[in-house]
Amino acid sequence: MAYNGFAIDKYPDVEEIIRKLDALRDGPIYSILPEYLAEYEDQYFNKKCLKSKEMIDEAKTVIPGGVQHNLAFNYPFPIVITKASGAKLYDIDGNEYYDLLQAGGPTVLGSNPVEIREKVIQLLNTCGPSTGLFHEYEYKLAKKISDLVPSVDMFRMLGSGTEADMVAARIARLYTGHKNILKMGGAYHGWSDQLAYGIRIPGTKGLQSRGVPNYVFRHTDEFFPGDLEDLEKKLKRNKLDGGTAAVYIEPIGPESGTRPVTKDFVKGCEYLAHKYGALLIADEVVSGFRIGLSGAQGYYGINPDLTVFGKVIAGGYPGAGGVGGRRDVMAHMGAGLDSSGKKVKKALCGGTMAATPISCVAGYYTICEIERTNAIEKAGRMADRLVAGINKSIDKYHLPFVCFNQGSVCHLDNAGTMHYFIDWSKPWNIPKVLKETSARQKEMEHMGAAYMAEGIITLAGTRLYTSAAYNEEMIDDVIARFDRVLSKCGKL
Ligand code: PMP
Repeated sequence: MAYNGFAIDKYPDVEEIIRKLDALRDGPIYSILPEYLAEYEDQYFNKKCLKSKEMIDEAKTVIPGGVQHNLAFNYPFPIVITKASGAKLYDIDGNEYYDLLQAGGPTVLGSNPVEIREKVIQLLNTCGPSTGLFHEYEYKLAKKISDLVPSVDMFRMLGSGTEADMVAARIARLYTGHKNILKMGGAYHGWSDQLAYGIRIPGTKGLQSRGVPNYVFRHTDEFFPGDLEDLEKKLKRNKLDGGTAAVYIEPIGPESGTRPVTKDFVKGCEYLAHKYGALLIADEVVSGFRIGLSGAQGYYGINPDLTVFGKVIAGGYPGAGGVGGRRDVMAHMGAGLDSSGKKVKKALCGGTMAATPISCVAGYYTICEIERTNAIEKAGRMADRLVAGINKSIDKYHLPFVCFNQGSVCHLDNAGTMHYFIDWSKPWNIPKVLKETSARQKEMEHMGAAYMAEGIITLAGTRLYTSAAYNEEMIDDVIARFDRVLSKCGKL
């Protein structure tokens, strides 16, 4: 299939990628060799990032760990960004970077595009950032999203993806009258209590959700990504115990496709959810308006009952979350009667700073600009070029690393950390698995540091988002920088 406005040209060969990722996980660790890592620390971080280091040391006295944002925690220390423009970021020491973090995903157009900024400034000059009352852009954004995403009849803007995922469970329970939630193991649906389950590594249940009491998960369970039999088994079991209200999926696979899934699996989740009277909730926080204007759901050909949005729907501005879906389901988000005149129960939902004029104006113009410039497809083409280039270097240096992409969401895995899973029939293995993943995680961080020293900012050393602000020349320069790092990698 050619791009056709989507970010994906050719769907990755999922079986082949999983095979390679499993081999990566089971093999010895390859990473940046210690002498080169020491050289990067010495020559780059300790010489060229001194102002960042000084500020972070100061910040540590008042901010736990020195940073506020999980993505900002980089080895050997976080850097302080002062300027962002298009595909580039600049730090407090004056260093310039290619931005493959893209604020964690929202900026498909690149950083701080003038077309959006001007609209936001106009709004600030007239109305200010918030009033608590209705603003026309709330309507415009909801209309735009409903027009573009066929499964969305109605939309409500919220403060974050976490909030939207959280309320989606409430709506699903009210609509179906069922109790249980099933989510894909390893998938991320924000950090609310109930969905902080099976995070990053399938099978971890509540192990990684310290601070959340176990009873919260009484009605939450996970199914193994790619395994429809496992999903059906759990749906069947739930039938005898309150039924399943929702099956949550990240359509591109858990953790933004870190473990990709086949198109048939995605379709199978839709079929099975409906067979057992559950709603299908597509978490498109990452994929919405990044994989296609109709979402990843448009690409996979699914018709979810509810869709969770985030990130791109506010174009990098604060307050990025929303839930959309079928009219009769969304009725549980509104007051009073639904359109048929039936009285419906309303899900508890709030947020002083939800749906501010800023997030709605930024989101509306971001989506319009993405549509006008075919930005989704362009970012996807850039990612395809990037991944092809990195794979050439991987082959050249005979590394076991795995690099693949679904549109502008790229993965470059050197350690296989996310490809572990917990097998509860062998509980004695659990501490060993957790220990191994943390050793491998350290090597992802080292790779991230090496990329940064070469002028590339990645997400945690393993994920790369491209944007439409890139051009081929920039991508070729990025590939050359990755090549320099990969030439310094080997078996530890
Ligand atoms: N769902 C997915 C798939 C995500 O990737 C994220 C954030 N990375 C969230 C939900 C939570 O969104 P937020 O950070 O806006 O709360």
